[in-house]
Amino acid sequence: MDIHEYQAKEILGRFGVPTPCGGLAWSPEQVAYQVRQIKEGPFVVKAQVHSGGRGEAGGVKVCKTDEEAHLYAKNLFGMELRTKQTGARGKDVYRVWVEEATDIAKEMYLGFVLDRKSERIMIVASKEGGVEIEQLAEEQPDTLIRMVIDPAVGLVDYQARELAFALGLSGPQIGQMITVLKACHSAYSELDATMVEINPLVITGAGDLLALDAKMSFDKNALYRRPEILALRDSSQEDPREAVASDNGLAYVGLNGDIGCIINGAGLAMATMDMIKLSGGEPANFLDIGGGASPDRVCQAFRTVLSDQNVSVILVNIFAGINRCDWIAEGIVQAYEQLDLKIPVVARLSGTNENEGRNILRMSGLEIKTAETLAEAAELAVAVRTIA
Ligand code: ADP
Ligand code: MG
Repeated sequence: MDIHEYQAKEILGRFGVPTPCGGLAWSPEQVAYQVRQIKEGPFVVKAQVHSGGRGEAGGVKVCKTDEEAHLYAKNLFGMELRTKQTGARGKDVYRVWVEEATDIAKEMYLGFVLDRKSERIMIVASKEGGVEIEQLAEEQPDTLIRMVIDPAVGLVDYQARELAFALGLSGPQIGQMITVLKACHSAYSELDATMVEINPLVITGAGDLLALDAKMSFDKNALYRRPEILALRDSSQEDPREAVASDNGLAYVGLNGDIGCIINGAGLAMATMDMIKLSGGEPANFLDIGGGASPDRVCQAFRTVLSDQNVSVILVNIFAGINRCDWIAEGIVQAYEQLDLKIPVVARLSGTNENEGRNILRMSGLEIKTAETLAEAAELAVAVRTIA
């Protein structure tokens, strides 16, 4: 789960990362008010969306007066901000952060991520900040410094010092960097984060370190024990299809094609998508109904998949172990009855109670296409889709 820049700054600030003074606004008028609170200009007005690359996309602006900030914010509110990271489907701006502008001497990059290879938290840093990490990795890979943290001892002083030296810092900046690193590490591990990124971490004209941007992501599986983090969720920033699914306890991944997939288990989802692609189609999404899915749950899965306007056929591919094909079949029939289905459905039911399941589909009199194998099901789905 992602949070906004201002929320990440508030959290990291609490752990000891220095950030500029600022305030949040929900309207252009509040932007002007926040600007007046800061008193001394210039000010930076920043769209709060769950994406980096806002600067390039016109979502960050230095303003000199409250009128200028007000005018700029009028444009910003309600706008769909498209950045390099959001792609064509942008993110709506409902919140704007206003902070004092900083005199920047140098921009650096600092990130904490989970390194799956070493199964540890890894720090990634660079003297060259401000640009996205992907771009850094591609254009200036030599500037990237990586450091793995041993979970038994945590981030130790000598490591933090080494990193500060490697970034070319000196004097009081070394101590400031150690504070920033330890704060980020504590926030990361104490709050079940999966990512902390400060880009840019700057050296100000006065020579001090300051975090001008902040990003944090959290482990969804740990949110049950982090109510204070869950409270920061902003579903307006999520793929609306995924938000509805997660509210119903379904695992949903939105994609760009037109074949809706209802499956059980991530492995089968991968195999199904491969098969669809092999047959010349593109999945619109996949929705994992999990194990032991009731007819109601299957019906809810249909509702979720259908909320995507691009879906022109639904492929149900179930390999039932804990699931029961008769329940799945009942769910499909229920979906037809309740949801006014106008697009074709292809079902491949295999495993527990498969004969009962197929019987239910046959007896329903509905025009449900059935397939024996995964390959057959994928080919059928590609063949019958109704392209609007
Ligand atoms: P994003 O990463 O989404 O583009 P940032 O918060 O990193 O957004 O802002 C983009 C750029 O704007 C920064 O790299 C920095 O150069 C500048 N910037 C951001 N905040 C400030 C600030 N408070 N003072 C001065 N410049 C800023
Ligand atoms: Mg940034």
